Amino acid sequence: KAVLYVVATPIGNLADMVPRAVEILQCADLVAAEDTRHSQRLFSHFDIDTPLVAYHDHSDDQRTARLLEKLEAGQTVALISDAGTPLISDPGYRLVREARERGFQVVPIPGACAFVAALSAAGLPSDRFSFEGFLPAKSQAREKALAKLAAEERTMIFYEAPHRVVDTLEAMRGVFGSEREAVIARELSKAFETIRLMPLAALVDWVRADRNQQRGEIVLLVRGAETGKDSELDEESRRVMQILMAELP
Ligand code: SAM
Repeated sequence: KAVLYVVATPIGNLADMVPRAVEILQCADLVAAEDTRHSQRLFSHFDIDTPLVAYHDHSDDQRTARLLEKLEAGQTVALISDAGTPLISDPGYRLVREARERGFQVVPIPGACAFVAALSAAGLPSDRFSFEGFLPAKSQAREKALAKLAAEERTMIFYEAPHRVVDTLEAMRGVFGSEREAVIARELSKAFETIRLMPLAALVDWVRADRNQQRGEIVLLVRGAETGKDSELDEESRRVMQILMAELP
């Protein structure tokens, strides 16, 4: 039976393309891509001339159906997104789900993924974490989403658009407190890669003061709440402790 390959592509540095991904894309009968023009650049670089078709999760059912028909006909289909691993804040879920339901083999070709790269170098606990993807764009909905995470004990990972990064960091400071550690991981694998770990209040100031930190592609990570404590209480006790310490001889 035909195979659907789910192929990761680089998140900025083309040298991160894995050889198996090139091979699969060259040999597939058809490649379903988020944006065919964008992927054409990758294809030219690696001398791939497999036909490309556009695919989104909100593509009409017909497009998913057509790809499934290709699989039915015994063709090998590969799925890629603009960057990184398909289905990670990217299209593909519907296609993978339906391909599996119809009994096709679905094979991942592992490679770059922005949040894994960020977590691996951030310096925050990585044994347990929660990938939150993109927060809602509107401020009220964003606050609400963050408020739900106030007691989250695992490291939280977010994708964020550059023009919203300051507002989002401010909202995070409001919910998690000034002292909570956070990391901005920007332009990973590219020329201006920056990874900075600071308490949220300092991080907001640093990003706000330097417009370059508000450009490019960004992953934000926030340390989880201390086990068994709620962050506000924690800050309050730290404040009281500081006052007491100052009074000590
Ligand atoms: N599928 C991709 C992956 O595997 O990471 C993510 C796609 S999502 C539409 C795009 C978001 O991923 C960006 O807005 C940014 O938050 C993050 N991202 C992608 N490439 C990045 C990079 N080189 N450095 C930092 N963040 C990146």
